[in-house]
Amino acid sequence: MTDEATGEATGEARRDEIEQAWRDLVDTARRTAAEGLVVGTSGNVSVRVGELVLVTPSGVPYERLTARDTVAVDLDGRQVLGDLEPTSELPLHLAVHRETGARAVVHTHAVHATAVSTLVPELPPIHYMTAALGGPVRVAPYALYGTQELARNMLHALRDRTACLLQNHGTVTYGDTLPQAYDRTAQLEWMCSVWLTASSVPGRTPSLLTPAQLAAASTCLATYGQPTP
Ligand code: 13P
Ligand code: ZN
Repeated sequence: MTDEATGEATGEARRDEIEQAWRDLVDTARRTAAEGLVVGTSGNVSVRVGELVLVTPSGVPYERLTARDTVAVDLDGRQVLGDLEPTSELPLHLAVHRETGARAVVHTHAVHATAVSTLVPELPPIHYMTAALGGPVRVAPYALYGTQELARNMLHALRDRTACLLQNHGTVTYGDTLPQAYDRTAQLEWMCSVWLTASSVPGRTPSLLTPAQLAAASTCLATYGQPTP
């Protein structure tokens, strides 16, 4: 096989990989809207393919996205694929991809999570699934959407966590895959809803888990589900 042929084969494999990743990214973005985690064109999603980061375009309804709309940037934010403008939250996505082991990032404006972000600096550990996100989920101080300041605040809030809230804005989660990042958003939104429900009972205060209880849950969760074959 000539160098040229190797190059072509590699190029074709990479193209297939990008096409599949774009389909998965669009499915995930559509799911955030279908399951009520965003309204309209709010929120955004990204996924890594090698040194590329595929991102949703800014302000385009997810149901309209086709294979021709693929948008990719490099880790410095230079656009390498597509004509549509990348998400306005590119600084936030790139910060997560550069500074963590993330392969996929999901940002939403989920209702209960956004409500909690206006009330407390950290989601109180009301449920053991807190441990699945690395510990009590912090709230990144407010900054204007799309700014480096917001990306910086978020990175600080994400330390040793795979999720955070953005004050008066929404959620950010990341994972090894799009389904994992999505699931973390759904779990976070669900926990925010549990805490809001429990803490709204007049005259009562919800019980919270201790660090030791969370550590025990974390150990257990490491082998949760079916054994890997
Ligand atoms: P984009 O449409 O530019 O991705 O912005 C949506 C959003 O949620 C900004 O925070
Ligand atoms: Zn947003």
